[in-house]
Amino acid sequence: MQMDPESIPAQKEGVGLYKNILLVLLFAFALFAEEPWGMILGYHRIVKKKKFNPDVTAASFEAQLQFLKANYRVISLEELVRHIKEKIPLEANSVVITLDDGDESIYKNAYPILKKEKLPATVFLYSNYPGWGGISWNQVKEMSDNGISFGSHTKSHAILNSKNKGESEEKYLGRLRAELVDSKKIIEEKTGKEVVYLAYPFGKHNEVVDAEVLKAGYLAATGTAWDRNYVSTASPVNLKRRIIPGKYKLTEFVDIFKKTDVDKSAETQHEDY
Ligand SMILES: [Zn+2]
Repeated sequence: MQMDPESIPAQKEGVGLYKNILLVLLFAFALFAEEPWGMILGYHRIVKKKKFNPDVTAASFEAQLQFLKANYRVISLEELVRHIKEKIPLEANSVVITLDDGDESIYKNAYPILKKEKLPATVFLYSNYPGWGGISWNQVKEMSDNGISFGSHTKSHAILNSKNKGESEEKYLGRLRAELVDSKKIIEEKTGKEVVYLAYPFGKHNEVVDAEVLKAGYLAATGTAWDRNYVSTASPVNLKRRIIPGKYKLTEFVDIFKKTDVDKSAETQHEDY
């Protein structure tokens, strides 16, 4: 076969052009492909009949979990924190389930549903609560032995970032440290497991609090901001978390995942109690 010698450089040039186009496309893809997010959801009481604003009915809770399971990866807080600390990209958009305070309805209503759906969850307990209205320590132990992880929500559900009236700096720091250290120790003693996650009461914290959280031995802590967490930018002591209000219809719940511009933080900022 006779080949036109003129066509050889032209062919080479052609291959080079395709290669360049491919590189540009790959670069554009990397630039615009959205980084998978990790969303942490915060629940409180899971009830048969609603009484307070953040009360979610057991039926709604179950429907919400089923939606999550069908559409996203539901992962443990431990897994999300590991990704953030080690800067390992998430495989896909992921959701973490947490429940605050330690009302008995968590044991009675949420726990059976989580077990049935085989989903991980973290309960943020304030350690003064069991024994005077909350869950019992036996219930805590049973849940802990059966896949529910426990974090601290301090000892007395105190606001951590402000001094009491007339409180000296020294007294304030002592009180702050006791809230962080004592609650961790008590929950560890009762569950027999290390407690390394904290939820700030009312989502309130600052740099002083963050530093004490790390000094007390926590790996991560979560506030209540209405944002998604991205491995590339997340700060372990300032994880974003969405409090789920009881009034949501399933369609409104779905919107917070499907739409990126849903910000109802004003609606729920006082819903931690
Ligand atoms: Zn709380």
